[in-house]
Amino acid sequence: MTRTNAELLADRARLMGPNVSTFYEDPLHIVKGEGVWLWDADGRKYLDCYNNVPHVGHCNPRVVDAICEQARTLNTHTRYLHEGILAYIERLTGTMDASLDTAILTCTGSEANDIALRMAEAVTGKRGIIATDATYHGNTSLVSQLSKSNIPTVGFGLGQYFRFVDAPDSYRNPDPDGTIFAAQVADQIEALNEDDTGFAALVVCPYFLNEGFPDHPNGWLKPTAEVVRKAGGVLICDEVQSGFGRTGTHMWAHEKMGVVPDVMVLGKPMGNGHPIGGVVSRGEIVAEFRKGYRYFNTFGGNPVSCAAAMAVLEEIEDKDLVSNALAVGKHARMRMNQLAKKHEVIGDVRGSGLIFGAEMVTDRTTKTPASEFTDRVINAMRHRGIVLSKLGRYKNALKIRPPMPFSIQNADLLFDTLDEVVSETPVHL
Ligand code: PMP
Repeated sequence: MTRTNAELLADRARLMGPNVSTFYEDPLHIVKGEGVWLWDADGRKYLDCYNNVPHVGHCNPRVVDAICEQARTLNTHTRYLHEGILAYIERLTGTMDASLDTAILTCTGSEANDIALRMAEAVTGKRGIIATDATYHGNTSLVSQLSKSNIPTVGFGLGQYFRFVDAPDSYRNPDPDGTIFAAQVADQIEALNEDDTGFAALVVCPYFLNEGFPDHPNGWLKPTAEVVRKAGGVLICDEVQSGFGRTGTHMWAHEKMGVVPDVMVLGKPMGNGHPIGGVVSRGEIVAEFRKGYRYFNTFGGNPVSCAAAMAVLEEIEDKDLVSNALAVGKHARMRMNQLAKKHEVIGDVRGSGLIFGAEMVTDRTTKTPASEFTDRVINAMRHRGIVLSKLGRYKNALKIRPPMPFSIQNADLLFDTLDEVVSETPVHL
C-alpha cells in the first residue's frame, strides 16, 4: 500500500535527522521515470523540466542495458586492469582540447572539486582559492567553504583560504566584456598575495549556472583567464552542470566562454544518475598531484560506472542531443520572450540550449526580486504536472534544465502551462 506523504516525512525526520531538504510545499513522491516524464505514487504524470542528472532521459534503455550487462559480468576497482576505464577516458578526453588528456574518476562532483583544489595547491604551492559569492561546488570540508550561503560551522577552519568575488549579474550589473569580473579576481589575488596565503586557483562554473546563468557573449571569460594565468594560478572550470552539451552551442561551456581550463570538473549528468564524477587535466598537473598523494577511490572509475558513462556519451552522439538542445533552447527562449511581453513580472529572459529561465521582478524599473511569487509559481506548476525550480542570488529566477531529449512539444506544454499559472498567481499576496 502506498504510504502518505505525512508518513514518509515523519519517517525521514526519524531516520535521516533534521534539515534534510525536500522540494515543494507538498513534496513529490516519485516512483517511476521514462525519458522526460516522471510518475508519482498515485500514478500522476509530470513533465520533468528540472532534472539535469538523467541527461539522456530517465531510465535511458542504452544506459540501463550497459549497467546491467557490466554488473552481470564484473564490477571491481582501479587496482585491477580493465579496458572500460581506459576506453571511457579516451573517448571523453577526445571531446576536449588536446591539452586535457588525463583523468581521475570519482563518485561525486564534490570529490572531483576537492581533488581539483588540491591539484592547484600541488602545482602552485599556494592555498588561496577564489570563487563567486553565489555558487555551489560541493560538500567536502574543503569544497563546502565555497558556498557562502551555507558554509558549515564545523570544517577544520579551512575558511581562511577562500576569497569571493561578486557573482556576475548581467541583469543588474552588466559586464559585457568580462573585464569588471576579471578586475575583481585581480583584486582578490592581490589580497591573497598581501596576506601571504598566496593564490592557487579560481574555480568557476563557466556558465555560472548556480548563480542564475547570466547572459554573457561568447569569450566572456578570456580576460579573467588572462589574469589567473599572469598570477601563476590554476583555472578550474566546474562543468558539473554546464557540461555534456547542455548549453547547446558547445559540448563544454568553457569553450563557449573562450577559455581552456587547467583543470575541469565533471559530475551529475556523466552517468545519467549512476554516481560517477571526474577531474580532467593536463598530464603534468595530474602527475604533480599524484607525486604528493597516491589517490585511490574504491568506487571511482569502476567498470559499471564507466559502462554507464560510456553509454551516455554514445547516446549524446547518436541522438545528436547537443543539436537538439540548441534547437529546443532557441524555441524555449522565443516562447519565454513572448511571455515576457505579456507578463510584466517577467523581468529578464536568459539561457542557452537546455538551461533557460527568467528572472521574476515586482517592478521592472527597480528590478526588485519577486522571490515569493517565484516560489508560488513553482508550487502551482507542480500541481499542474510540471517539475521545475528556482535559483540565483535572490531565488527569483526560474530554473529550467530538463533532460536533453526534451522536445519542442514538451517546451510548448511547459510554456502554455506557465502562461496560465503566471496569469493566475498574484504577484503580491
Ligand atoms: N559543482 C556544481 C556546479 C554543482 O552544482 C554540484 C551539485 N549541485 C556539485 C559540484 C557537487 O556535486 P555532487 O553533489 O555530486 O557532490
